[in-house]
Amino acid sequence: MVDGDTDFEYKKKSSWDIFSDEQIDSAFDFCNGYISFLSKVKTEREAVDEIKKIVESKKKKLFLNKHAGAAVVAKGSRPISEGVRLIISHMDSPRLDLKQVPLFEDGDCNLALLETHYYGGIKKFQWLTIPLALHGVVVKQDGSKINLSIGEKPDDPVFCVPDLLPHLSHEVQDNKKLRDAIQGESLDIAIGNRPFKNNNKDDEKKDGNNKLKKMVLQKLHEEYGLVEEDFVSADIEAVPAYQPREIGFDRALIGGYGQDDRVCVYTSLQAIMDVENPVYTSIALFVDKEEIGSEGNTSAQAMAFLRLILKQLDSDADIDKVMMNSQVISADVDAAVTPNYKQVFELKNASSLGNGVGMSKYTGHGGKYSANDAPAEYVGEIRSMLNSQNIPWQTGELGKVDKGGGGTVAKYFSRMGMNVIDLGPPVLSMHAPFEITSKLDVYAAYLAYKKFLSSE
Ligand code: MN
Ligand code: MN
Repeated sequence: MVDGDTDFEYKKKSSWDIFSDEQIDSAFDFCNGYISFLSKVKTEREAVDEIKKIVESKKKKLFLNKHAGAAVVAKGSRPISEGVRLIISHMDSPRLDLKQVPLFEDGDCNLALLETHYYGGIKKFQWLTIPLALHGVVVKQDGSKINLSIGEKPDDPVFCVPDLLPHLSHEVQDNKKLRDAIQGESLDIAIGNRPFKNNNKDDEKKDGNNKLKKMVLQKLHEEYGLVEEDFVSADIEAVPAYQPREIGFDRALIGGYGQDDRVCVYTSLQAIMDVENPVYTSIALFVDKEEIGSEGNTSAQAMAFLRLILKQLDSDADIDKVMMNSQVISADVDAAVTPNYKQVFELKNASSLGNGVGMSKYTGHGGKYSANDAPAEYVGEIRSMLNSQNIPWQTGELGKVDKGGGGTVAKYFSRMGMNVIDLGPPVLSMHAPFEITSKLDVYAAYLAYKKFLSSE
């Protein structure tokens, strides 16, 4: 390469050319662990449970924020006033949440159903006619808590939002705009068809038209000790019931639910587990509620948790000084260039599957509104780090200017004085019930996070 080289194509270099054969084998091995993690973790609470197990096995310092926040710390040799190395990922993914009063029956259809309220940005039609599992917790009147996971074992029942047959959808769906064709209020999950039968004729009359609902309530009481009011104090999520799989004849891709952003949860967790005696204190922070704007006490905006951790690491530390000196990776996924829809991407800047971990200087929408726009100096440091380690990377951008956009948790941390950049693997079909990543990009993200946490 000569000075002033205009052939700016290194970004488009395939990871298959950059990685050695041994590294490609390591990437595939690494992804076996990731696929297994994905198969066990379908909610933010389950992510916390799995993080606990993995951390306990290796004895790193674990902090928990209520039911859906966690942090893993590897203490560095330098005082934290010189700054920490922080990677943040989010454990929540789009799904259908149950409403507080979800259970009803439709006598005309002979179905018992559950009302839902979708969580995060979904294309509603993608959630119809797929097998769903119910995961979550119910807090009963006496304060006891019941964990639910129904639909994952091979002999479990699953649940499903029905759709209208194409023979009759012309007027009520096909002629509408795609986004209006399915109403949020119509995402009701079918859960039963068998009416309750009362042998006592008088009681039979009293049950009236609620026999389907009564049957469900009887089953819920028998199997879980639940009564109808218990749904009021519950976090129950309907998620795809199927397992993650390898995709393609070459098995180079991974398909599965919730890869945004559990791919970064897993890679940053493995990275910090592999960091020993770092120079700067390393923290992997796992947050909730990113998909609904990072609101709430387990979200990225709940800074009290991070402040508390820093105070526990050094009670004398000036927390503002720690934050001002810290370097951060917002570990979140990037939009992969999508076949048949390339017109919404600007191909020089967008990321593609298999070209490495995506680095986004900024996100946001319109004129960079709501973006963390990382300064050139910090982008330069990350770029040098990736190049010096020969880690495949590419730039990332959430679509063409004015075509849409989106945000990450980056801005909440840059606001606190930290240097922050977005770095994560590209995902195809983001927010769909079956998202796609490339194994080599997943591995590249892990290598990048590990190097970042152990950097001097
Ligand atoms: Mn995300
Ligand atoms: Mn998302």
